[in-house]
Amino acid sequence: MRPLHIGLTGGIGSGKSTAAQTLVELGAALVDTDAIARRLTAPRGVALHAIAQAFGPELVSDQGGLDRDRMRALAFSDPSALRRLEAILHPLIGDTARAEAMGAAQAGAAAVVFDVPLLAESAHWRGRVDRVLVVDCEEATQISRVMARNGWAEETVLRVIAQQAPRPLRRSIADAVIFNDSLSRQALRDEVLSLWRHWRAA
Ligand code: ADP
Repeated sequence: MRPLHIGLTGGIGSGKSTAAQTLVELGAALVDTDAIARRLTAPRGVALHAIAQAFGPELVSDQGGLDRDRMRALAFSDPSALRRLEAILHPLIGDTARAEAMGAAQAGAAAVVFDVPLLAESAHWRGRVDRVLVVDCEEATQISRVMARNGWAEETVLRVIAQQAPRPLRRSIADAVIFNDSLSRQALRDEVLSLWRHWRAA
């Protein structure tokens, strides 16, 4: 039987990765599209040749991977650069995610969770999942969490938030929303667990 495919998304700092971790502990296989993108753009990653051709060798760091700080700066100043990077990465991410999901199904996983930050922006991804779980919180909470987690300035967090789907759009594509704002970590776990039971029973 094909495992349930759950699409998981949320704005930066919403608690999406924390919810994903709970789903893994419950027995889901995780397909983490951010992690796939990092592997594709790490030294000797499959996407590097195309990135160097599209943006020039200066976007490749001394270690041989994508220079993320430079890329972020370029994307802030030139939105078309972000679209060009996505045009290189998205097909590769899709292929890798599909292969990982097939491997998880063959290994007997009860569910596959696709952690996709841009799920709300992508009809393609939404068509590939059976249920969409959105983790949501107030923008002020996103800012304080990401400043603490990444050591970023508030302005940097705000710029990333501005590049992501607005919260109402993200919520509008959800089958379930967990509002992870004033929840304790345990309360977040409990909400994920109850949803897991509900969806697996259905
Ligand atoms: P995302 O993957 O959405 O960017 P994370 O799951 O990494 O977000 O969460 C952002 C930060 O906030 C992390 O440091 C995480 O440990 C913390 N966090 C998330 N949810 C809670 C919560 N309910 N209580 C306390 N800290 C939380």
